[in-house]
Amino acid sequence: MLKKGAVCAVILSLILTVTACGSTKPVTSSFEAMDTLMSLTVYGDESICDAIENRILTLDETLDATDENSELYRLNTKKSATVSTDTADLLSRSLQLCKELDGSFDITVYPAVLAWGFTTGEYRVPDDSELKTLAENIDYTAVSLDGDTASIPENVMLDLGAVAKGYAADESLNILQDSPAQAAVLNLGGTVCLYGKKPDGTRFKVGIADPENPAGYFGYLSCGEGVVATSGGYERYFEKDGVTYIHILDPAAAKPVNNNIRSVTIVCDDGTKADAMSTALFVMGLDKATGYYQNHDGFDFIILTDDNKLYITEGIYNDFTLADGYDFTIEKVGKSSD
Ligand code: ADP
Ligand code: MG
Repeated sequence: MLKKGAVCAVILSLILTVTACGSTKPVTSSFEAMDTLMSLTVYGDESICDAIENRILTLDETLDATDENSELYRLNTKKSATVSTDTADLLSRSLQLCKELDGSFDITVYPAVLAWGFTTGEYRVPDDSELKTLAENIDYTAVSLDGDTASIPENVMLDLGAVAKGYAADESLNILQDSPAQAAVLNLGGTVCLYGKKPDGTRFKVGIADPENPAGYFGYLSCGEGVVATSGGYERYFEKDGVTYIHILDPAAAKPVNNNIRSVTIVCDDGTKADAMSTALFVMGLDKATGYYQNHDGFDFIILTDDNKLYITEGIYNDFTLADGYDFTIEKVGKSSD
């Protein structure tokens, strides 16, 4: 199942990227992976682009919890399994992030994701007693990883969907760093990975999707190397009895997040972290997310709330430009709370 908005956004960004880069022709490739359309633009050899594509496709096969042939599916079913280096690596980094993000990001949300129908599209609203049981079983501390052996209790299942694209970005960056490529823009469906220096010397320009119309952008961020990850309720949701239920869940309640946030964009050198944080800060809400920013270094954010206000941290405040036709108010978020 491919998300239409994502497809349009990727195609548009590809056009923007290519036209912005003058005469040096990059190698490009578009393919479907991790439930979205991905597009790669590499200023370098075709073999580098192929290597990145193959790496991402392999990760997708390994990490897709819905695929009966994946390693994650096997672990979720058998409850204990020997896993590949990729799975062990991402699992270990994810568990660390669950801890750092104080459970707002929790890779054991999968039974709740299934119960709400987000993997199949057969949406339903579980009743309070079902939600209580689901919430009791969401607990990343119950996951054990010992070398290449991962184990989970009977009622627990893992979901690496919130970090898979970020991890793919990190692995792609590793390939690029070991290659002679001059630069690359990898749009991994909401997670954009930027590498090197463009031939025309200009900085990268990343469009931030408009939740009202995800094929369009409400603004642009001028960036150097790194990863820009966006999470939004618009990616997947359903409506029932006038209530909108989004695919980002509050692990404490096993329920879709219902706050005033429309989207969270994180800018960070580390893709896995950027991806986990875009989900987690969405769960935290604006005040907690702001507090988290003030107490932790190494990232910046753009948060859009449903009253069309943009909160942009000071590290990227001057790098953001609102697109024509948008009259959002912009507030700068500083490192100190006064
Ligand atoms: P997208 O996949 O659309 O880019 P995210 O990166 O925010 O969006 O990941 C959302 C996915 O992660 C959900 O579809 C679900 O599988 C899983 N998920 C939802 N809520 C959480 C959470 N609080 N912690 C960890 N994973 C989550
Ligand atoms: Mg995420």
